[in-house]
Amino acid sequence: MNVKIDGQDASGSGTILDVARSIGIEIPALCRDDRTCAGGHCRACMVEVSGRLLPACTTPVHAGMTIATASPRVREYRRDLGELMLAESKPGGIAAKFVAEWGADGSRYQSMAKKAAPRKDDSHAYLRIDLEKCIVCRRCVAACDEVQGQFVYAVIGRGADARIDWGEQPLASTDCVSCGSCVAACPADAISDIDRQGADRSGRVVTTTCSYCGTGCSLDVHLSSGKVTYIDGAAGSVNDGRLCVKGRYAHTFARCPDRLTVPLIKRKGKFEKATWDEALAFVVSEMERLDGAFAGLSSSRCTNEENYLFQKLMRAGLGTNDVDCCARVCHAPSAAGMREVFGTGAATNELADIERADLFFVSGSNTTESHPVIGARLKAAVLRGAKLIVIDPRRTEIASIADVHLAPRPGTNVLLLNALAAVIVEEGLFDRSFINTRTDGFHEYAQHLRAYSPEKTEAATSCPAALVRRAARLYAESISPMQMHGLGMTEHYQGTEGVMLLCNLAMLVGAVGKEGVGVNPLRGQNNVQGAADMGCQPDLLTGYLPVADPAVRKKFEEIWRVPPPDEVGRRLPEIYDAIDGGRVRGMFILGENVVTTDPDAKRVIRTLSRLEFLVVQEIFLSETAELAHVVLPGACFLEKDGTFTNCERRIQRVRTAVPAPGEARADWEILADLLRRLRVPGSYRSAEEVWNEVRKVAPAFSAATYAEMDADGLQWPADAARPHGTPILHIGEFQKGRAAFKKVDYEPSPAVARAEGPLCLITGRILEHYNSGSMTRRGRNVLIESCDRLEIHPDDAASRGIRDGDRVRVVGKGGEATATAEVTDAVKKGELFLSFHFPESRTNDLTSDIVDRIADCPEYKVTYVDVARI
Ligand code: SF4
Repeated sequence: MNVKIDGQDASGSGTILDVARSIGIEIPALCRDDRTCAGGHCRACMVEVSGRLLPACTTPVHAGMTIATASPRVREYRRDLGELMLAESKPGGIAAKFVAEWGADGSRYQSMAKKAAPRKDDSHAYLRIDLEKCIVCRRCVAACDEVQGQFVYAVIGRGADARIDWGEQPLASTDCVSCGSCVAACPADAISDIDRQGADRSGRVVTTTCSYCGTGCSLDVHLSSGKVTYIDGAAGSVNDGRLCVKGRYAHTFARCPDRLTVPLIKRKGKFEKATWDEALAFVVSEMERLDGAFAGLSSSRCTNEENYLFQKLMRAGLGTNDVDCCARVCHAPSAAGMREVFGTGAATNELADIERADLFFVSGSNTTESHPVIGARLKAAVLRGAKLIVIDPRRTEIASIADVHLAPRPGTNVLLLNALAAVIVEEGLFDRSFINTRTDGFHEYAQHLRAYSPEKTEAATSCPAALVRRAARLYAESISPMQMHGLGMTEHYQGTEGVMLLCNLAMLVGAVGKEGVGVNPLRGQNNVQGAADMGCQPDLLTGYLPVADPAVRKKFEEIWRVPPPDEVGRRLPEIYDAIDGGRVRGMFILGENVVTTDPDAKRVIRTLSRLEFLVVQEIFLSETAELAHVVLPGACFLEKDGTFTNCERRIQRVRTAVPAPGEARADWEILADLLRRLRVPGSYRSAEEVWNEVRKVAPAFSAATYAEMDADGLQWPADAARPHGTPILHIGEFQKGRAAFKKVDYEPSPAVARAEGPLCLITGRILEHYNSGSMTRRGRNVLIESCDRLEIHPDDAASRGIRDGDRVRVVGKGGEATATAEVTDAVKKGELFLSFHFPESRTNDLTSDIVDRIADCPEYKVTYVDVARI
């Protein structure tokens, strides 16, 4: 469409606002948010078209239109609009700026000024509302409804009486999830937050990547006088401006006075301050003394560069492959299961496909709490009409909006997934062409599934056969069914096998290797994908290259000038066993608080206490660091450069916003120093130099330069053939050529036979806190959620005399935990849910030593216990 705007020729389609922006003409548009439907509420974007005033944000362009965006009539209109706004409100923010620019001074309509005092609310831990500033543009309503899917706000009243409302209760008592979308949307500062109030908003902005969950949201960190003032969601394909309560608000931990600021050496049982030289010299001497008996655990909170250097330190510096990372305790089964079936153990698709899928199959993921921004995107897609199937024993928020919610008995995922596949085969709903051209073993698999019909498995899974059939039909009949799975799939005795069955389901209906489909593990920690990618695994070097392959080792030796050891190393549970057996006597733990996050916590403490030497690199003196002989102060994500890799394989830049406190150093610098002291050839002056070595050793990252990933990151593999990355894997053929269906028989967890209590405990995360809570508990998130909660069914609570809010003791074979009871039918009778964010609750004293029988991932989701009121 060719039009003229302010005398300039323009062409394009869409609204006048869109086309004007495309040629660089800005029209004030206070209510416009590109992520929501245009409402045309504020009327600030009125332009003159052939003598008529029309809203630019809702008026489509027509060929031949002549548009004036700042004609005398438009300017007079805007001044009058500003006068009306000032008569009804006292806007701040960008609205105040526009009103002043328009020449309004509040003199014209003074008699219309509202008499009743507008509502204020300061009940919330973060948000502050002052409706005296509100211009009723409704951006907050649209952001909360359409961006977040939360529906906290509404507009009540009409015309001049219209106002924003959130019910009679204080904001803190609403369904608000503290995502701050309304704050970011409000142009008048009527909805603000404690970070912004009084903050200098003209300072530097550093764009970086969130360090909480594996979603990997882009952050705009606003700075003033060298300090973080507030954080906004950045534009970008992952979050498009959205954030959750952790990413937006849980940043104050970085300047807590109890940050580690100097190295510590334990002498006579007490930590004493040490110089870097003393501490590192001591670490190196102990590493050399315990040569051949040293193991390492790397950190999924640290950058790729740091994880790369960590495994290089263990391999090239200490000559051992005894190196692992926390993927072992979360998504190792995803990597193992998907690699076995597809050839690559990572998400098949990109998060942007959420907008392309017409059905979501979400299994074992409390998405809106564990990966809140992905959860918000899912909710928005469902509101637009996408179908949703959820597999979760609990009625989580995402389950409550599902078309079909299947709530299997914990530990029976294999039965249920076989039953779903059995329906697809039995009812002929499979994709014959995909199966014939890209897979093997279908006929044997189909035979195998006969033992697993929904009717045969119903009693064991507790999922009604009719519901299972409905879910299978929905999945098979949709055009773009996209799978996502979480730890409720992996943290089981048959976790890896469950993931293989998810792959089978996708292959049955041909939902791999194209847009809007696939199998997509929602990684837990921010860089758990990257830690594994970088080779913090005992059998795989950087880029998943097998350590057992002589050609691979030769290539690494050429670059490192030190050969990697050839013997496959120990996984984390094997490292613990080797410590108990005296075969491992020293350990380096980088940024993991295993004492509170690993299962069977008492055993972890006993085992680590046996070490002759433990060095922990951390930002706080964590429960694990307390056990160390040397503690090295590292930097948090706001204080260093590097990259993280999120759950969709997107490698994204992490950029320094503020300096590390005291003498704390970027973790990559500490590791590089240790490598130098261990006389490993090579040196690094920046994180980018480390990354460039990663690009040399691992072909999958060879084209992923910092420059290439500067704007929006890039999804590996990125090589000469795919210089801009690979959003979708397995197009045309699988990484391993043809993929074979896996037959998996159900085998109950040993926990069932042990029967150590009448109630089955599931553990997991909640929205406000993260892992051991060392970051989220050092801020106002504790005002929203101050303790671990035990969800218990009303019948189980009543039979034990437990009421909502009671303190309870959860007793299991390994020990006992304490929590506050939340009596709810979101959990089924006989089942419990408990979070693990408060170390004093001791949740992981309860979880057992049972692990996934392929990947050694602990079975956090099935522990038999009993509960009593304290
Ligand atoms: Fe950070 Fe995850 Fe929240 Fe995004 S969803 S802001 S990555 S914690």
